[in-house]
Amino acid sequence: MIFWGLISLCMNCIKTVTEMNRLIHDITDKLKYKLEKIGKILVKVDRFFASSQTCSCCGYKNPETKDLFVRAWDCPECGTHHDRDVNAAMNIRNEGMRLVSA
Ligand SMILES: [Zn+2]
Repeated sequence: MIFWGLISLCMNCIKTVTEMNRLIHDITDKLKYKLEKIGKILVKVDRFFASSQTCSCCGYKNPETKDLFVRAWDCPECGTHHDRDVNAAMNIRNEGMRLVSA
């Protein structure tokens, strides 16, 4: 059984943005290949997708959460309390599922 629970990267050797982009491209290519071998799909979500600004419950887009220091927030529309990273992860998962089903 293959379990993808953790991916750790050390970026200390990266000197330029070009090197970073190349590394990310190589990693996603290899990950996509490995996932396809076990019948899974890798979906790339647009980098401008507002994952941490959008309420994962009601879809309200909160411009006040653009500030990276805002680690938690309450949705002014539906009142749901969000942890920034958990909310972003849920939105990215949902967007990936939307893209696959489109
Ligand atoms: Zn909401």
